Amino acid sequence: MDHLVYLDNSATTRVSEPVLRAMLPFLTEQYGNPSSIYTLGQQAKAAIEEAREKVAKAINAKPREIFFTSCGTESDNWAIRGTARRMAAKGKKHLVTSAFEHHAVLHACKALEREGFEVTYLPVSADGLVDPAAVAAAIRPDTALVTIMYANNEIGTIQPIGEIGKICREKGVWFHTDAVQALGNVRIDVAAEQIDMLSLSGHKIHAPKGVGALYIRQGVLPESLMEGGGQESRRRPGTENTASIVGLGQAVEDAYADFDEKIARMAALRDRLIDGLLKIPDTRLNGSRERRLCTNVNISFKGIEGEGILLWLDMNGVAASSGSACTSGSLDPSHVLLAIGLDHGTAHGSLRLSLGRYNTDADVDHVLAVLPGIIARLRELSPVYQA
Ligand SMILES: *Cc1c(COP(=O)(O)O)cnc(C)c1O
Repeated sequence: MDHLVYLDNSATTRVSEPVLRAMLPFLTEQYGNPSSIYTLGQQAKAAIEEAREKVAKAINAKPREIFFTSCGTESDNWAIRGTARRMAAKGKKHLVTSAFEHHAVLHACKALEREGFEVTYLPVSADGLVDPAAVAAAIRPDTALVTIMYANNEIGTIQPIGEIGKICREKGVWFHTDAVQALGNVRIDVAAEQIDMLSLSGHKIHAPKGVGALYIRQGVLPESLMEGGGQESRRRPGTENTASIVGLGQAVEDAYADFDEKIARMAALRDRLIDGLLKIPDTRLNGSRERRLCTNVNISFKGIEGEGILLWLDMNGVAASSGSACTSGSLDPSHVLLAIGLDHGTAHGSLRLSLGRYNTDADVDHVLAVLPGIIARLRELSPVYQA
């Protein structure tokens, strides 16, 4: 293989050609400040508003309900910490989330605990799903927010978001969902699913790193996290990242333009990878096979370490992720895999392959050709497996 087989699209994606083309003028000729009243500034402003319309349309929101941010992490923090601050004034200091959220959500919740908030971390089932009945049971009179991710970034499981949204709306509690992995891979409808806030990020869908958005339903008012100018309807200050916002708008539009065809193609690649890898002895698929993103394959290989698999894959021209914390250097097993009940050893021997729109049948063929040999070699060297 002379080219890289990139199977880490849940970590980040390449900027697509159409996105780059849409962005370039705003880095060069169209550099005006969107707050300026002369034509150069107003052209930038118009481009941002066009991007806002594209993002809103993709999730069935109104354009004025879309607020651009610096990343998915900022969007999560704004929804969670901003809501906590708003609700604390009303004596509501309890939050509900799940044990397998992204660290942007989990660490925001941990920070609030240090500030005197109480957080319920709901368990997830063995196949990686949150039970809506458990959400209903966890909501109390002093609950400020429910935050449950739309689709998990490690095992790809898609949560029953519409059911959870309905429960929260009935109980009058704001509902936030981190939809960074779902965007572009699932049809999202914030109105039908009764979502109050939704986080998204550019770099997981072929826009650049460093741009995201938070959908905030009209009438929902998390406090702003920063003080500054009047940008984003006075709710998120800072001169707009015009080029990246334009890129995000283009990426969202593209993600849904050929949706059915793209999803079918990626699901076929995913299924071929899963079926092929499960033929290797002593393996298991992590996360529900049915309620699963078309992009996600997560397999545990008994008796070996994920890092070893990654190094061998790298030498064979394949980029992937393991079941250890994505913060490389950490030897802690993934909190997601522990949450679905894996023991430490099994969690350590896990591999995530995440597909994107540029993957091909040849990429899958290559992985299926090299990985069984890599696993066999590592197991020959593994005293744990031999035992
Ligand atoms: C990548 C990711 C984030 C963080 O987004 P950034 O733009 O990288 O800050 C948050 N949540 C999930 C589920 C993610 O996959």
